[in-house]
Amino acid sequence: MTLHLVRKYTGHDITDDSLTAAHQQGGPLGMLATALTHTCHTLNATEAELTRCAETITAHLADIHRVLAAGPDEPAPTLNPTGVLQAHGPRLDTLTAQRATDISHLRALTRIWLAHHAQQPSGENRAEQVRSFADQILAAIDDDISEGIVPAGIGSFVDLHRYLDANDYLIAAGVPYDGTEDSMALITAVQGLVVARLRTPGRPFCTHGACTFAAHDHISTTGSNGEDLEQSAPLRCRQCGQPAHYDSRLKDYRHDDPAVPDCFLIHRDD
Ligand SMILES: [Zn+2]
Ligand SMILES: [Zn+2]
Repeated sequence: MTLHLVRKYTGHDITDDSLTAAHQQGGPLGMLATALTHTCHTLNATEAELTRCAETITAHLADIHRVLAAGPDEPAPTLNPTGVLQAHGPRLDTLTAQRATDISHLRALTRIWLAHHAQQPSGENRAEQVRSFADQILAAIDDDISEGIVPAGIGSFVDLHRYLDANDYLIAAGVPYDGTEDSMALITAVQGLVVARLRTPGRPFCTHGACTFAAHDHISTTGSNGEDLEQSAPLRCRQCGQPAHYDSRLKDYRHDDPAVPDCFLIHRDD
């Protein structure tokens, strides 16, 4: 069986037994199990082919080494003077790209599988479950902030959705969704806790003079009465006076500090 590839490329375990059970159950889960098995086989075949291709090229390279290292009377192979890499190089590149595609497909299917199989405890376990999902999502958001994909100071799921598909955070964390009210309630609770954490005072946020986010403008060139300023100044919210910025991706203004309460002018969730 090729399920070890799941462990190798996703870090998760899917057992033969659970796949067999899903096959027998049929429906969407059965189809998912079929897709997972199929993707593992495809990836396995791609890697086998890639291994053969790499071995062929390695053998040609070894011949070159042997010919060059051979003494005057030592037998040496005859080198093929035309097109060894032209013949095998493009195939190697194609197979390498195919392998990357197979792995990304496998990861996507595994995420969906894990989301389907996440434990759904109730009562006090539920609170722990919500905390655990929120921890994972916060860590993923912090990763994206450090890579400049979303700005520091992001404070709502609505805003996150405008930069990327924020549902991917839920899927990657394995938050189960099966359309039931229970799974909807869980998602709402997880999102609520994530947003609360994002808006907790003390979280780093970008502000005038310390902003590296391309879509942000923290500068004001007009004064409080609308007059042109001779020198630009840090932008402040005209309603509550808090440091603020214009985000060209959101096409809207935001307070710099996500912990600052929304005011009449600036709302994060609409
Ligand atoms: Zn900024
Ligand atoms: Zn304000």
